[in-house]
Amino acid sequence: MTETDVTFPGDNWPILDPGWVWLVGAGPGDPGLLTLHGMNALRQADVIVYDALVSEELLAWAPQAEVIYAGKRGGKPSAQQRDISLRLIDLARDGRKVVRLKGGDPFVFGRGGEEAQTLVQHGIPIRIVPGITAGIGGLAYAGIPVTHRDVNQSVTFVTGHDQAGEAPDTLDWAAIARGSHVIVIYMGMKHIGRISKALIDAGRPASDPVAIVTTATTTDQRVLETTLDMAEKDIARIGMEPPAIICIGKAVQMRDVLDWQAMAAGQMPTNLDPLGRGLPAEQV
Ligand code: SAH
Repeated sequence: MTETDVTFPGDNWPILDPGWVWLVGAGPGDPGLLTLHGMNALRQADVIVYDALVSEELLAWAPQAEVIYAGKRGGKPSAQQRDISLRLIDLARDGRKVVRLKGGDPFVFGRGGEEAQTLVQHGIPIRIVPGITAGIGGLAYAGIPVTHRDVNQSVTFVTGHDQAGEAPDTLDWAAIARGSHVIVIYMGMKHIGRISKALIDAGRPASDPVAIVTTATTTDQRVLETTLDMAEKDIARIGMEPPAIICIGKAVQMRDVLDWQAMAAGQMPTNLDPLGRGLPAEQV
């Protein structure tokens, strides 16, 4: 099969031409979170290079395409990253229609910017298809809104790893602790103890609510609610494994009322006013 068998209404859908690479965000896990542009890309690809965090179910939408796994588990990330970029360049130069399928959004903490830059530097034309990032969509699947008028006017997205894979000592945790009521951490599991301590030392209450969501949006999603001082111990006690998205701040408490997955399982919430501000939350 070379032609798309999904009809897209309208005639403005972009065409994936030979020699091009489209970097496509696959979303955090649930295949239904791919965008229509993402689907349009999958249907036209003749080769798909995908990451460890991409749902393999999505590949079933592109039965015509050759699929290449480019996951990085352990090893030397920078050397492998270079291999992936070189592979994409070779495929494009061979006149293939290349889709580079990346977890979440390609431009959020996933080196998509670097890959795209390398491609363009080698004369390969690209298109970017944004995706739903784990730090927003993954938390939404746990019933946590990253912004809520009663909670925060800003949100900070940080990575718990720096380029060397160590804790991000380059980050000004004191400024983040003071300046952002809600903090969303990618790749934060390994250093959660150090991060929690830095935030508490900077004045964040030890009792600040924390949610850890692993394999968010998939059928294996797990959610742990804890506090800043207990996070590291609780993660170890329960045995949670990455990938995890971590949310710190009062937004976590909104889960009491917004845990829609619990509702889907037949459980309506009992605490309808988790911040104790008095109902109703909104005048209607
Ligand atoms: N580009 C991706 C992020 C890549 S960095 C995005 O926009 O989502 C990889 C990190 O993202 C993981 O270590 C984890 O912190 C987070 N992550 C990605 N998918 C996730 C998922 N399904 N559940 C929890 N965390 C996830």
